Amino acid sequence: MTQPLAPVNFLLVDDLEENLVALEALLKRDGLVCLKARSGEEALELLLVHDIALALLDVQMPGMDGYQLAEFMRGNARARHVPIIFLTAGAGDGQRRFRSYEAGAVDFIQKPIEPDVLRGKAAVFFDLHQQRQQIRAQRDELQAYADQLRAADRYKTEFIAMLGHELRNPIMAMGAGLTLLKRRRDPAQVAELHERMDRQVSHMTRLVEDMLDISRIGQGKIGFKLEQADLVEILKTAVESSQTHIEIGAHQLSLDIPAGPVPVQADPTRLSQVVSNLLNNAAKYTPSGGRIRLTAQVGEDVAEIVVSDNGRGIPPEKQAEIFEIFAQVQSHGAAAQSGLGIGLALVKQLVELHGGAIGVESEGTGRGSTFTVRLPLHGRRPCPRSAAA
Ligand code: ADP
Repeated sequence: MTQPLAPVNFLLVDDLEENLVALEALLKRDGLVCLKARSGEEALELLLVHDIALALLDVQMPGMDGYQLAEFMRGNARARHVPIIFLTAGAGDGQRRFRSYEAGAVDFIQKPIEPDVLRGKAAVFFDLHQQRQQIRAQRDELQAYADQLRAADRYKTEFIAMLGHELRNPIMAMGAGLTLLKRRRDPAQVAELHERMDRQVSHMTRLVEDMLDISRIGQGKIGFKLEQADLVEILKTAVESSQTHIEIGAHQLSLDIPAGPVPVQADPTRLSQVVSNLLNNAAKYTPSGGRIRLTAQVGEDVAEIVVSDNGRGIPPEKQAEIFEIFAQVQSHGAAAQSGLGIGLALVKQLVELHGGAIGVESEGTGRGSTFTVRLPLHGRRPCPRSAAA
């Protein structure tokens, strides 16, 4: 959590090179960076770009002297808070001392310098600076956490609103269905009402199941078991459960899957849920009468399952985030209204539980979408080839 501390900069200002060298040698230690200036002007330049823990200013310098430099520093927002120690050759007279404190100096040391005194005083400021750095880093981390929490809270509020909306529609439809059932006697009309209400119930059930699955995966409590299964059977089950959606959209589904059994280490229910979810989305996000294709290719170790459609497509900037929970393409408007943006997040997590990966390609809005699932045939943990045969 805690980041490594940045080096601590200190500034030496003296017109005599030998003084700069001597002071640097005196204060040198690991983690400190010495910045040297031969004049007040040079010092100001350094103060404007560096974060400085302490400035040691020689008072008597040609041009801008130490006091003037201190006054400039106090007038500058960036340099105002840099602590100053004045170094002076003269005996400390009251007038000078007064000027230095007026200018905001923190301390005042007379030459010849006593090394231990200077080292001790400087060390206090270096430590203070490091503590400030730590506090700043911790404050930034806390700020980042607070931002994350705020975003999560916002997400939750939006989610509850969407969920309410999403559940209200089928409940209202079922309420209306019940009222009609009381009045209708014609068996054909009654059967049709039953079928409609059935669809609403399955829609709500799927929604609630998806939400529960997402939270179960998050808590590591999902019922998931890899076993020896037949990929072709899994794909057929998926097609069967998506059939209604495909028919409602009057889409044409073409299949290109192996004829014979393909042994795979998978959780058959979950894998068929993945494929059926992709097929349902293809049906939902393709205008009526579209083309949907399911293909499966099997290599030596990997199976590739591809669901493609010629529907609404996904804009390039949305493709990276489409597998994140609650992600939806705004422009899909009405079609997306019957969803919460959790289906693909769940699909991705289920694919990953299989040790696989999922990706999407789309040339953009109106250009269709292609979802590709790559699965290791022999399971998440490498399993002996003989076990898969
Ligand atoms: P939902 O469909 O419930 O909104 P999903 O997580 O299944 O949630 O999908 C997230 C979003 O991805 C959808 O809202 C839609 O905008 C986009 N999307 C998913 N599948 C397709 C597809 N086949 N074609 C175009 N957009 C899709």
